[in-house]
Amino acid sequence: MKVYLGTASGTTKVKTAGVRLDGSFLISKRPPLTVNLEEGTARMVETWIQGMEGFLEEHGLKWGDVLGVGLAISGPFTRYGVLAEAANLPESFTDWEFLEDYQRALAAVAFRRIEVVAGNDGHLDGLAEAQRFRGPKPASVLLLSPEMGLATAFIDRSGMLLDGDNLAGMEAAHMPAPLQRLGLPIFHCGCGRDWGCVEPYTTLSGLPQYLDHLLPQYKQHEFYRSALSRPAQAKMLRSRAQQGDALALRIFKMQAQALGYHVASLAMALDPQIVVIGGGVMDPDHTTQYFRDTYMEEVYQQAHVYLFPSQRRTLRLVAATLGSNAPALGAALVARTPTLMRRPERTE
Ligand SMILES: [Zn+2]
Repeated sequence: MKVYLGTASGTTKVKTAGVRLDGSFLISKRPPLTVNLEEGTARMVETWIQGMEGFLEEHGLKWGDVLGVGLAISGPFTRYGVLAEAANLPESFTDWEFLEDYQRALAAVAFRRIEVVAGNDGHLDGLAEAQRFRGPKPASVLLLSPEMGLATAFIDRSGMLLDGDNLAGMEAAHMPAPLQRLGLPIFHCGCGRDWGCVEPYTTLSGLPQYLDHLLPQYKQHEFYRSALSRPAQAKMLRSRAQQGDALALRIFKMQAQALGYHVASLAMALDPQIVVIGGGVMDPDHTTQYFRDTYMEEVYQQAHVYLFPSQRRTLRLVAATLGSNAPALGAALVARTPTLMRRPERTE
């Protein structure tokens, strides 16, 4: 069996997945490998290779079966294959030519050159989900995945990713939220913009700020006088909401509203047919069907008001299905069909 493999490199975990020649998905049942960024870039590449070798062994494959490799990694990039300075990465990662390093390491273990393509992990996550929902049909897909940050991606009718002229397109998490509709103050965003980015209103990163703002209205709530830190309280909110905690339920409702407005904003520019919602709020292992349905319904209701009539008839809102395998699968998909992403040469 011949395969294309994908590596998804996060700040703490590395996952591997594959795509067969016919485009069908091949996933691993093993837990992801853990990484510590402080150990440096060479150790990171070793872990990517280790992930590949484990995956090949698990599926009874050899290096000779690997036709190409994709890498999903979070930017920002200074140019294709090179990381830019980022607040969440150690200094040694700035200007790291990761694509070249990976290519060299793969050649050393496979005894031949294996082509590697790389892309933004959020975008490749969207690419895999899009493939799942649109199949071969010409339909455009928008992905919004709230986790710690808000991963966003857009795949057009022909299946191509939108990534812009500086590989910085579709960073839709940092567009401003309609604060007058939400009735909330400006929340701080990790990117430093002060115009009320959508990200903190829709993700885990913003939950402590929701608590700061709303807790004074809930003086009877145990968090009001709790010695727990705000981030620790924030982490408990998802399970609290599912136990009927009124404050937690209100916060997730507000998050769903903010995401709904964002779906509508983006629909003005992109006119997608399918909108995929992923992330922690759609995680079947940690949320009930009722919680997920309520969240999705709220997103839909808020978005619906602001759509064009034709969009109200055609737009489909669906829950992501691939979970944490999506970025690695998306990476394997671009290795199989590099034209789904702009050709690297043109981004130099
Ligand atoms: Zn921002």
